[in-house]
Amino acid sequence: MTSEEKINQLRGELREHNYNYYVLDNATISDYDFDVKLKELQELENAHPEFYDPNSPTERVGGEVTKNFDTVSHSFRMYSLDNSYSKEDLEDWETRIKKMVDGDVAYTCELKYDGASMSLTYENGLLVRAVTRGDGFKGDDVTANIKTINSVPLKLKGDFPSLFEIRGEIVLPFDGFNAMNEARIEAGEEPYRNPRNTASGSLKLQDSAEVARRPLDCLLYSLVGNNLPVATQMEGLRKASEWGFKVPQIAKLAKSIDEVLDFINHWDVHRHELPYETDGVVVKVNSLQQQEELGFTSKAPRWAIAYKFKAEQVSTILEEITYQVGRTGAITPVANLQPVQLAGTTVKRASLHNADQIAKLDIREGDTVFVEKGGEIIPKIIGVNLDLRPENSVPTQYIEQCPDCNTTLVRTEGDAKHYCPNEEGCPTQIAARIQHFISRKAMDIEGLGGETVTLLVQEGLINNYADLYTLTVDEILPLERMAQKSAENLLDGVKASKQIPFERLLFGLGIRFVGETVAKKLAKHFKSIDALMAANFEQLVAVDEIGDRIAASVLAFFKIPEHDLFSEMPQSETHREVIGRLKTYGLQLAISEEELAGQTDILDGATFVVSGVFAKVTRTELKKLIEDNGGKVSSSISKKTGYVVAGDNMGPSKRTKAENLAIPVISEDEFLAMIAN
Ligand code: AMP
Ligand code: ZN
Repeated sequence: MTSEEKINQLRGELREHNYNYYVLDNATISDYDFDVKLKELQELENAHPEFYDPNSPTERVGGEVTKNFDTVSHSFRMYSLDNSYSKEDLEDWETRIKKMVDGDVAYTCELKYDGASMSLTYENGLLVRAVTRGDGFKGDDVTANIKTINSVPLKLKGDFPSLFEIRGEIVLPFDGFNAMNEARIEAGEEPYRNPRNTASGSLKLQDSAEVARRPLDCLLYSLVGNNLPVATQMEGLRKASEWGFKVPQIAKLAKSIDEVLDFINHWDVHRHELPYETDGVVVKVNSLQQQEELGFTSKAPRWAIAYKFKAEQVSTILEEITYQVGRTGAITPVANLQPVQLAGTTVKRASLHNADQIAKLDIREGDTVFVEKGGEIIPKIIGVNLDLRPENSVPTQYIEQCPDCNTTLVRTEGDAKHYCPNEEGCPTQIAARIQHFISRKAMDIEGLGGETVTLLVQEGLINNYADLYTLTVDEILPLERMAQKSAENLLDGVKASKQIPFERLLFGLGIRFVGETVAKKLAKHFKSIDALMAANFEQLVAVDEIGDRIAASVLAFFKIPEHDLFSEMPQSETHREVIGRLKTYGLQLAISEEELAGQTDILDGATFVVSGVFAKVTRTELKKLIEDNGGKVSSSISKKTGYVVAGDNMGPSKRTKAENLAIPVISEDEFLAMIAN
């Protein structure tokens, strides 16, 4: 088999597995085997740039950075939809239609997905452009980002028209949304409010690799073009599905408005079982011929109408407003409600967000409030029933002191939240930081749970995570529900955690904005906590993917406080002191010997592009050698490329490009000689 044949075969296989998994939801290969094939393809493509294909499955991992999205005109305007809210509205709509078209009218009922609308253009079966709705006439070209969404086909199958557009919705399923939020909370960041805004925000990210990491999905429901080979909306859905698109499975043909209402009533109740957010039903005249006769108003098609579900709303009594303190000291006011049924779950609490929100709605304890579950996962209070306000009601006074440690709260300009500044002494913050430290992705301490941490803090046995390492069985035995065996397990777990690698320890320290990935980056770059603590702002932002915000946060974390000599209060330990203790207990505060062996700075940050096949090392080994010796690997040649390491069969286009840009092309041996000393 020639390389070209092999490339085409792998592309075909991967495309099919991808389709089975993401569109049909039916895996036909293990993740591992998929990755192996993808890597194989990637290497072949790197070695043979002459077979480059912008629609190859390897393009899905992203990496293209768009600074400014191009504005593109839609060939066919993207209209909005008229809304309806009742049976009467729908009947009026039908009357208007029947005046304009002859004969029977059938309707398709589809769910109205709440995401970001998108128009995809396919030419000869290849995705060539993805454009947001924008103002309906013009949108943003977000093709690089859309390509990373696995359910968007890059290449179609079957008897598709040579040129057409297909429209649909980019959505973020609840599962993926929740997982993203867990990661954010772990990194000390504010969680996203709702899936829809997060989905549309994702489309405008500059780094498509970041989009690739987001679990977005794409549901397509509308073919647009001239001379399409379909006669009805239903047929359009079926055809689109045959060509490889993910079309909503829930669509029904209705012969009358009564049947439309059956569909609506069913999904009004059952939509909460769906993996995505929906906010209504879209009813469309099924026949495209009739659609054409009906045409458009200045804003919307006459042949379609959206029926909006009422956001489920209930009223209940707000019993008490309490305040929660987070790991970073952020205060969140919480409404404790008389339990009430809403959208299929019992609701006892609702978030009040911040002081402004409470003041704006004048929410008070004892009020009867309206609670709604819209796009948000946590229900929210949308108003107060003033008629039922008790006579002795008093306006809510937002707390001025921390509910936990009584410290006066602070609020910085431009921040909606209040914070407890008593980082070192506030028990909830202390416990939350230790809980983060022991969590699964950080130190993963077996035998120690969040509640025990709270108890240990309350009993004054620990004040920070370093204190965990000096605990003794005798100290913890008296704790509630602690037996000899569990005490020993706990201490064994603590001891075992001393072997946890540096990058996870660094994540566990709880530096704001330093999540798992950032911790890895920093660990790899600085190699030890000492080097990281010694870094200044410029050195920090020089690291790949470390921006101003993260750099400032790292500096603040390691700042040496100016000791107040006249203070009567004993000074609490600084982060540097805590880390000093972790060191003496034998934790991994640097990359281990094995990892370090063979790591140098010889290449001094130079960027390498690797092309072709090598005799002494594999491509993967070569790339690792570059990184281990302080270089960077990039997949494409640009002005920033320092060297191209060329093996056998280096692609001619890469060679020409390197020559044009006057970038040195070196052989495998020359490279190995470079790092030899
Ligand atoms: P609106 O933004 O309220 O004017 O509603 C129109 C939008 O609903 C369209 O632009 C689509 O993005 C979205 N939508 C969601 N599901 C559907 C569907 N099944 N058919 C048509 N439009 C839909
Ligand atoms: Zn506090």
